[in-house]
Amino acid sequence: MERTETLIVGAGVSGLAAAAALGDSDYWILEADSEIGGYCKTVVRDGFVWDYSGHFFHFKHPEIEAWLRARMGDQAVRVVERRSFVDYAGRRVDFPFQKNIHQLPQPDFIDCLYDLYFATQARAGGCAAPEASFKDMLYTRFGRSICEKFLVPYNEKLYACDLGQLDKDAMGRFFPHADLTEIVRNMREPDNRSYNATFSYPQGGAIEYIKALASAVQSERIATGEALIGFDLARRVARTTRRELGFERLISSAPFQRFAALSGVAHDPSVFSWNKVLVFNLGFDRKGPDDVHWMYFPSREIAFYRVGFYDNIFASERMSLYVEIGLRADVRPDVPQLRERVLADLRKVGIVQQQRLIAEHSVVMDPAYVHITQASNAEVARLRAELARSGVYSIGRYGGWTYCSIEDNIVEARALVQQLQHRTR
Ligand SMILES: Cc1cc2nc3c(=O)[nH]c(=O)nc-3n(C[C@H](O)[C@H](O)[C@H](O)COP(=O)(O)OP(=O)(O)OC[C@H]3O[C@@H](n4cnc5c(N)ncnc54)[C@H](O)[C@@H]3O)c2cc1C
Repeated sequence: MERTETLIVGAGVSGLAAAAALGDSDYWILEADSEIGGYCKTVVRDGFVWDYSGHFFHFKHPEIEAWLRARMGDQAVRVVERRSFVDYAGRRVDFPFQKNIHQLPQPDFIDCLYDLYFATQARAGGCAAPEASFKDMLYTRFGRSICEKFLVPYNEKLYACDLGQLDKDAMGRFFPHADLTEIVRNMREPDNRSYNATFSYPQGGAIEYIKALASAVQSERIATGEALIGFDLARRVARTTRRELGFERLISSAPFQRFAALSGVAHDPSVFSWNKVLVFNLGFDRKGPDDVHWMYFPSREIAFYRVGFYDNIFASERMSLYVEIGLRADVRPDVPQLRERVLADLRKVGIVQQQRLIAEHSVVMDPAYVHITQASNAEVARLRAELARSGVYSIGRYGGWTYCSIEDNIVEARALVQQLQHRTR
């Protein structure tokens, strides 16, 4: 039986970043799909360049961006200042909504400011309800009106669950917090920066970052179309769809709830829940709005929660959209019917007018947003620690059952490899 020092599961960002950090040491990467990239794949159709969903990049570590860019040849990468809006009853409100309530119709603005003020007073006076969940956190910090006009309907459309189930920090640093002072200051001195105030995007799509990572990986050691289907921790042997493969250590980026089941380690599968995102990529024969990169749609009357405009990144001539719909994990979407609804809703909100649809693609991301709960956090931490004691590591957005960016995936994979190398030495 063949053996390898490190068996890596998944050739998405996390798996490739781990392999790149391992350099010329001995490893195999198993990738169930026929292509590398995971969720950072790009589809090119009729001249339109689409990702699996809008994948825009916000680097906090300049050295990581520089390392990737150095491996991208003459690929054009644009750094863009984000323009994003909330569609609120047909008018545009700058994102984040909670910092721009002064742009609402006056009665709605007064409701939001009034509730925000008294919610803030209650917190300051120590008499606010405890923040036991994400939903509680929203109501406690922003008051009822901001929640009910945007934060709750939008996030319910996205997560496709009761927000009362989610941990109060379910979105971590990706949630744009703002207090009363910042919100009032924003009325005169707009500062709508959040983690994604600017973003980078390669002309060839997200896959260009994958190609950059893959250029530092031993390509003959990537086995595409080969899935891990089980492993024996005691014998340190993995079963794949093609062979048995011995390993010294295993690094997996497969979704944690599936990996935990493969591991045979006792755990509680009921703590894992997540949503799916159905993405429609749509190419039109002419331009649409030219001043926006993406828009949020809180209205429950509209099928999608977000629409992005690829054509406004490189100022191309034809409207190129991604449209995202959040679904419960147990829903099998009727894609043709939802496609019709999406096209009708795009007309309803005024994005599509005279344009003719000329190219399209759709994909279901499953899982897309994991539901981070107190129980999932505890079970993931316990299981990961138990597996790590046997030299098995679960990393990545889905392997860590978390909410993070591709840069976070690279940072985590590199740190793990460094730690393992340090231990070996
Ligand atoms: C809707 C949406 C929008 C996003 N937008 C952004 C964004 O704008 N910017 C950003 O930085 N990040 C964004 N992300 C996050 C980003 O997609 C992830 O952080 C990143 O792709 C995760 O990479 P990964 O390698 O950890 O996981 P994945 O990309 O899921 O890769 C895991 C790989 O493992 C393979 N695999 C699974 N099971 C097995 C098995 N048993 N055997 C072998 N192989 C297996 C899979 O086929 C897959 O290729 C977004 C995510 C979503 C859902």
